[in-house]
Amino acid sequence: MGLIVQKFGGTSVGTPERIRQVAKKIAKKYSEGHPLVVVVSAMGHTTDELITLAQQVSDQPPHREMDMLLSAGERISMALLSMALVDCQIPALSLTGSQSGIITDQSHRRARIRRILGDRIRSALAEKKVVIVAGFQGVSETKEITTLGRGGSDTSAVALAVALGAERCEIFTDVHGVYSADPRVVSSAFLWEKLPHDLMVELATRGAGVLHPRCVELAKQNQMQLIVKNSLDPNESMGTILIQRQAGNSSLGMEEFRVVGVTSDKEKVLIRLRLTRPTVLGAVWERSAQAHLSLISPVFSGQDVSFYSERDGDSEWKKIFDELSSQGFVESYEMVSEIVPVSVVGDRFSQDGSALSEVIDVLSQSHISVVSGSASSLAITLGVLIHQVDDAVRALHAAFLESKKV
Ligand code: ADP
Ligand code: ASP
Ligand code: MG
Repeated sequence: MGLIVQKFGGTSVGTPERIRQVAKKIAKKYSEGHPLVVVVSAMGHTTDELITLAQQVSDQPPHREMDMLLSAGERISMALLSMALVDCQIPALSLTGSQSGIITDQSHRRARIRRILGDRIRSALAEKKVVIVAGFQGVSETKEITTLGRGGSDTSAVALAVALGAERCEIFTDVHGVYSADPRVVSSAFLWEKLPHDLMVELATRGAGVLHPRCVELAKQNQMQLIVKNSLDPNESMGTILIQRQAGNSSLGMEEFRVVGVTSDKEKVLIRLRLTRPTVLGAVWERSAQAHLSLISPVFSGQDVSFYSERDGDSEWKKIFDELSSQGFVESYEMVSEIVPVSVVGDRFSQDGSALSEVIDVLSQSHISVVSGSASSLAITLGVLIHQVDDAVRALHAAFLESKKV
């Protein structure tokens, strides 16, 4: 039987009881004869608590030390899960990202995986052990511990599945799969049994936190089967499977637009800047790429530029803009933390203005002010005030996904 990589998120391993339940689930799969590598996140809100702890001792904790601290969260859960498995008579071995040979670049807090050696994982699998790997972390070529960015354990799991030639990667979380909107915001959101990778990349990039966007990209590029399931469901119902896009699988007119999801992202902020001249834009893009800071829905016209980026990247952005100002590239900048993006994701938006005009109409009828916007063929993203964003998601979901056949 082929290797399966499974990943259990923070809620799924949030308490000792949940860890024991996860161990039983793994033991069942193991007894069916599957070689298993299991990636875990930190328990519950451990990562948030560690960040708060760091902020209590330092105004600007060095990123290297943050990685040393945050990687400890996943070390705790990997060791506990391994103990719980041994208790179920299952041979298990826990490994950190570094011990697993997950080699990253040197960008502390937002590192990218370069390659995975995986020797210790392979030898443990050969000894019929279940290997538990700490998600969200790796090690740089200079032997520094790195982390992959918030939500990065999903990416650890898919990257391991690819490197080890697994049959599939199963992401276990606290909902049944990928919904048409965050089910905690929209109670009528429905589950997608299948979703094309490219639409899932758009959903994840624009705030559907159920999957880390980079894990979807990796699965797509490497044709790795990726499934999202609920760890708390004893029946293990199917969940969502990501698929290659198929032509003609929509009940709509061939050229009609269709919506698959509405997302929002309170972890992003709107950044506006004025350049000294349009030709220096490349310098800004280059700096964001070097720091692995995201640049969502960029809009630029002449000297004015706006985009969304990580709320927790504000000090990095300030440093970049201050440097670019002193070099004579940036005239002024502001980070508008009360404006966050809401997006409608789907197909064929760019054919004409009909999708965009419908989106704007829905929001204005719901008395939601729109401060900025951009559109591509797969997504329309608008900036709204943070206190109105949940209402905006509900209004757009009602208009595009509850009343229309998709
Ligand atoms: P884990 O700890 O398992 O990685 P996350 O909290 O990162 O879990 O992701 C699961 C959460 O993603 C869900 O609890 C849900 O609130 C949220 N979410 C946001 N958008 C969606 C969506 N479109 N479909 C499913 N869940 C979503
Ligand atoms: N524990 C990390 C976080 O909370 C990584 C993850 O859960 O995927 O962001
Ligand atoms: Mg997650």
